[in-house]
Amino acid sequence: MKDDLSSRLCEAVDAAFDAQVAFLSELTAHPSTRGNEQSAQDFMARELTARGLDVDRWQIDVAEIQHLPGFSPVLGPYDDAVNVVGTRRARTQQGRSLILNGHIDVVPEGPLEMWDSPPYQPRVEDGWLYGRGGGDMKAGLASNLFALDALAACGLAPAGDVHFQSVVEEECTGNGALACLARGYTADAALIPEPFSETLVTAQLGVLWFQVHLKGLPTHVAYAGTGSNAIEAAIPLMQALHEMEHRWNAPDRRTTDYAHMDHALNLNIGKIQGGDWTSSVPAWCVFDVRMGLFPGQSIDAAKAEIEAVILDAARDNAFLRNSLPEIVYHGFHAEGYALSQDSSARAARAIDALDTAHRTATGAALERQAITATTDARFFGLYADTPALVYGPRAEAIHGFNERVELESMRRVTKATALFIADWCGVEPR
Ligand code: ZN
Repeated sequence: MKDDLSSRLCEAVDAAFDAQVAFLSELTAHPSTRGNEQSAQDFMARELTARGLDVDRWQIDVAEIQHLPGFSPVLGPYDDAVNVVGTRRARTQQGRSLILNGHIDVVPEGPLEMWDSPPYQPRVEDGWLYGRGGGDMKAGLASNLFALDALAACGLAPAGDVHFQSVVEEECTGNGALACLARGYTADAALIPEPFSETLVTAQLGVLWFQVHLKGLPTHVAYAGTGSNAIEAAIPLMQALHEMEHRWNAPDRRTTDYAHMDHALNLNIGKIQGGDWTSSVPAWCVFDVRMGLFPGQSIDAAKAEIEAVILDAARDNAFLRNSLPEIVYHGFHAEGYALSQDSSARAARAIDALDTAHRTATGAALERQAITATTDARFFGLYADTPALVYGPRAEAIHGFNERVELESMRRVTKATALFIADWCGVEPR
């Protein structure tokens, strides 16, 4: 790319940066937790329409995606799961196509008193924007959009088709990104600005969610024998699961990208419910578990092992032996994905373009990292033969309290994204 174009694109990002921060702030003010994404998606659809993109907005239909690889089982209705995609078709069709993907859903904010300021009243302090979802990943959605704006400000458009995706369901299933694939959205590469500190993500873990249900006969606490308490019966099951976690992290189980990590796979007991009354022996208990998987690890084999571990531990327990726990899958059935294993010329070219764009925008080499979480990149990489680059700004406390994103980092990523689009897609006059 000509130096002149690079500097014009970077200047265009600078010129619009105050507007970009205002956009991020407005978007973060929408409390788009699961089931509550509509107002944020309305906002995105309006912004895309105002920029002249063809906006496609649809409700995810489970029947259309449940047979596809990568589908995760869902509990509850999907009436409010609405995706938004804005498409800009290239006039010349001379370049490569691109998906700019980001998720609109955010995780619950937790107890409000843990926040220094309300999570959906974003504020800027010392160069950071605070608010739930500001980092994960509304700054990325802003970066994708304002990178396209920078091309427009230079009188240019991508010379290949671009699909701007604002998807739901990233934080629990990935079915939003899967629904985009099912609807026919494909491209030569995908870029997902998840907040991993301006590094290129070379590998991501798989994630499995499941619930363990324990049931028994309720009695008055005065007549309770030992081992008849559903809540206490859950504890040895949790211990057995943690022993399994330890085995799965053994050095001989690790893949190349994770060989240096002692504990890449984390088992999290994320929720627990049980019992009805302080003086009644609890007759039921349900706990929710998240477990990581290495790329290449089979979901079916993982499920079989998890079930065996839970049932073996239950058979050792006086209360559970006669009433074995039930395992219910809901949410993530996510396989791991490693961009590092994509040996295609297209992946190499896309990575090269991002290397160059990052170096030009920041003056530093693009670093790589394997992450211990999942992203929607797996759908493009595993099920659509599309290299998916995860590269986004620096954020802190995502999924925690006082989540924040560094604004100068968002500026650098926006510049790198504009340069990447111009290189990967090529440009044509608007
Ligand atoms: Zn995210």
